[in-house]
Amino acid sequence: SGKKVLIVYAHQEPKSFNGSLLKIAVEELTKQGCSVTVSDLYAMQFEPRATRNDIVGRLHNSEAFNYGVETWEAYKRGGLSKDLVEEQKKVQEADLLIFQFPLFWFNMPAILKGWMDRVLVQGFAYDLSKAYDGGLLQDKLSLFSFTTGGGREMYSKEGIGGDIRYVLWPMQHGIMHFCGVKVLEPHICYAPENVSEEKRKEMLTAWSQRLKTLWKEEPIDCSLEWYFK
Ligand code: FAD
Ligand code: ZN
Repeated sequence: SGKKVLIVYAHQEPKSFNGSLLKIAVEELTKQGCSVTVSDLYAMQFEPRATRNDIVGRLHNSEAFNYGVETWEAYKRGGLSKDLVEEQKKVQEADLLIFQFPLFWFNMPAILKGWMDRVLVQGFAYDLSKAYDGGLLQDKLSLFSFTTGGGREMYSKEGIGGDIRYVLWPMQHGIMHFCGVKVLEPHICYAPENVSEEKRKEMLTAWSQRLKTLWKEEPIDCSLEWYFK
């Protein structure tokens, strides 16, 4: 389709179920004629910490360090560290961002959270009064694809974990929507470790099937109601 896809992938082991989901996405999207880029965060040894090192050269205020202000200023003068500039370029070029990861503590793994913290800098992803529908990363789609340890029944409104949509609120609404990125339905594979080999194969097939018609999907209505109604 000529579309550009960035997959930000956070698993240490290529033979993992997440690794298999990644492989399927790369294969299927490439087959469709998309150009696919993968940021394999552990393989890249991606730095998750938001520190002074992210700014090249002089600080805006060297008396008291403020990460948000310093990265915003550095972005404006082209003074962000090389690894951030590279990731921002990949984001800028992408029509679709896919995040592939195992759920860690009702959240994304720290290395992926670090990617969010460091890459989505003010001035690049959002700005003063340019947030949510006005965010700077317009005309892009995102999709959170993740696996869990807990089963589907655990993540229902009445289940011990609560509705899985509760964990998606910070990721989809607080990050992607904030930056102006539209959100596709998440893709969740529940408890791949605890199901049969046959069920695992089914889950992998379902992912590749979904990707076949992905570009026809409408984004979700990413508002409070979607998550908590
Ligand atoms: P894997 O163990 O890699 O895969 C499962 C099985 O699938 C393996 O047997 C593998 O060999 C097999 N497999 C791989 N590829 C294929 C293939 N192509 N065909 C067939 N089989 C295949 N879970 C929660 O629900 N909530 C939490 O809050 C949570 N917090 C966590 C915090 C931490 C720090 C950690 C380490 C785990 C946490 N978990 C939590 C569990 C975690 O989400 C799961 O362990 C993870 O999602 C499983 O995905 P995986 O890719 O690592 O599975
Ligand atoms: Zn939203």
